[in-house]
Amino acid sequence: MNSFDKTSKNNIRGGGIDITTNKALNQQLDPALLRQALALIHSAQRIAVIAHEHPDGDCLGSALGLAHILGQVGKTCVIACADPAPGNLAFMPGIDKLQHTLDNEDYDLVIALDAGELSRFGSLYQKHQAFLERVPILNIDHHLSSSGCGNVNIIDPISAATAELLVLFQQQAKLPLNKDAALCLLTGIITDTSSFQFTNTTARTLEASAVLLRAGAVPETVVQPIYRTRPLAQMRFQSLVISNAQTSCNGRLIWSQATDATLAVAGATPDMDDNFSGLLRDIEGVEVAVFFKSYGDPNITRLSMRSAAPYNAAEICQRIANGGGHARAAGGTLHLPIDAATKLVITELERIMCT
Ligand code: 5GP
Ligand code: MN
Repeated sequence: MNSFDKTSKNNIRGGGIDITTNKALNQQLDPALLRQALALIHSAQRIAVIAHEHPDGDCLGSALGLAHILGQVGKTCVIACADPAPGNLAFMPGIDKLQHTLDNEDYDLVIALDAGELSRFGSLYQKHQAFLERVPILNIDHHLSSSGCGNVNIIDPISAATAELLVLFQQQAKLPLNKDAALCLLTGIITDTSSFQFTNTTARTLEASAVLLRAGAVPETVVQPIYRTRPLAQMRFQSLVISNAQTSCNGRLIWSQATDATLAVAGATPDMDDNFSGLLRDIEGVEVAVFFKSYGDPNITRLSMRSAAPYNAAEICQRIANGGGHARAAGGTLHLPIDAATKLVITELERIMCT
């Protein structure tokens, strides 16, 4: 029922329905696919575990979690990401060893996590394109819009987080779990579900989390730095973004913007804007929320979108913003100044939502 090959992934849709209630955590993956993935790992000694650009708790927690697991079976793992880790993830064991290049490319295997296109790995991909095109890649991801960028692709949109999928992988492959791995994987699950609040949380998400708690992960270690110790500059930044929000379609559509000037007024840094679109979405009556940002290059605008059913954020971002993601949370990049990007996206959303 729960098959993970590329052609069938589009038939599996998350959103709170747990279709796997009757199966144990160690029976969730297609056994043939798991065997192929393990064959890649067994034949490798030096493994680069890579996380997508503009990293979050799930891509980094998954990369570190998997590195801690594979380290226990004698593999040498290096973790890499194009961009620096957000400051509030400094508690994750091993994050201080995060690399921003694949140095001299001496890896037998790359494990690409939490994204299904090589371009999502940003400057890591640009710097090491030839290498990434020739090295074996194992891709593990949970995005609806992923096409799969590996020789073996384990893509499951039912998983709330790539970290949840890695717990299934660890359980079914009978790989060792330790406290450090468990804490990193729990970080991925907590951040991608916003502490189990989002509709992607299933019974299986909670069961996988229970495994991590039994292995020694303490939720407070994750929640305290991320949700309960917000820098004042971040809250000022948030209040500017909320004050500047505009609405349309009788308040069903809401959007706001941030630029270098906004950061300067708040005294904030770019990594402090995580889930701003989620804050806008949580306003009464809102069905679609978009946060536009342009930092550094004024001709590049990133957008982050949150939606309620029936609006499919992944489909919209993929179609108009070179992006993708999940049905309820997605993002993209436009090579346009922020006002032009805003106009393009809002005009399309108004066409979909207000007519
Ligand atoms: P966020 O809005 O929190 O940055 O991202 C929401 C979700 O969409 C995340 O799962 C993220 O990985 C995905 N996402 C964000 N930007 C992009 C993008 O440019 N391309 C794709 N394929 N996914 C994205
Ligand atoms: Mn994720």
